[in-house]
Amino acid sequence: SLHVGIVGLPNVGKSTLFNAITKAGAESANYPFCTIDPNVGIVQVPDFRLKALAKIVNPQQIVPAVVEFVDIAGLVRGASKGEGLGNQFLSHIREVDAIVHVVRCFEDDNVVHVEGKIDPERDIETIRMELILADMETVYRRQAKLVGMIKSGDKKAKFEAEVLEKLVKKFDQGIPANLVGFSEEEKELLNSVSLLTLKPVIYAANVSEAEASNGENNANVQKVQEIARLENAEVIPVCAKIEAEIAELEEDEKEIFMEELGLTESGLDRLIRSAFKLLGLITFFTAGPKEVKAWTICRETKAPQAAGTIHSDFERGFIRAEVVKYEHFMENNGLNGAKDKGLVRLEGKEYVVQDGDIMHFRFNV
Ligand code: GDP
Repeated sequence: SLHVGIVGLPNVGKSTLFNAITKAGAESANYPFCTIDPNVGIVQVPDFRLKALAKIVNPQQIVPAVVEFVDIAGLVRGASKGEGLGNQFLSHIREVDAIVHVVRCFEDDNVVHVEGKIDPERDIETIRMELILADMETVYRRQAKLVGMIKSGDKKAKFEAEVLEKLVKKFDQGIPANLVGFSEEEKELLNSVSLLTLKPVIYAANVSEAEASNGENNANVQKVQEIARLENAEVIPVCAKIEAEIAELEEDEKEIFMEELGLTESGLDRLIRSAFKLLGLITFFTAGPKEVKAWTICRETKAPQAAGTIHSDFERGFIRAEVVKYEHFMENNGLNGAKDKGLVRLEGKEYVVQDGDIMHFRFNV
């Protein structure tokens, strides 16, 4: 599943947002692959198509895709103090696919700002430096490992050491990895080093309750947008406090509450949608009497690899996939109706799975 790490200065609303996430959260029992950890919140990816499919299929259960939000605030705190980072934290970092950086944009005299005054530009710069420090530690650990490999004549290790050397120089100038111009070869190599400053960023601009539905008009949010434009990042205005309130409500109350506030979608759902877009993720479905289930894959994923997200045996023994588009499935009242019209295709190893495909895999065991 998709992993997103949350970072930000103290007192910007991270815990408030994270509490909203855990309250809105899915029962982790249904997601055995998810990490059970107080620093991890699991949220379902909203998708109206699941319910629509279930109406036709009548499965025993519906299983939405999930996103794991990881609170990695502690990582930043450790880095700034020059403390060594725990292995647990480092493994959390390696797992995250993207970073949500919470930036304070709300004015509230009752909530102290650690730097005295709200200034998104300075705040973002501060966290960026913290992330660079954390990456430095990752790089140092890797460099230490490379020494021995180079001594034994490993050419690849030598090349990697050179790339890391170049990176450290940039880090020293306060430049994060995603703003360094690397060649494709270098980038590929760096992907395996799991650097935080190489991960896609979504800025969650935390606005006040009064601005929950029109955060874009807030001058601080606009500053964040300016910064984000330069680094191809996304900005999602949210009001963490309202998100926490929404998370407390039952489904039907939720809609009424959001309508009163002029919200069509919760900030959490907007964050998830933004992460999907930023990372180029799409959804395919499996639909049977036992369950209707959503699966998350990257765009351009071929059928065997898509099957592999369900089980590695499915990928290894992949023979063919039976595929029908969501629209065709719905218009024809299910698989059999779609089959009658010749809308169910048999696809092979080279088939590129499309968003909304309903897949049935055939495989050898
Ligand atoms: P953290 O240190 O980043 O985890 O920040 P917290 O989530 O603990 O929030 C710090 C303070 O800001 C708390 O008193 C929150 O109630 C308050 N706060 C968080 N989000 C909002 C918001 O959207 N509006 C207002 N007015 N206060 C907020």
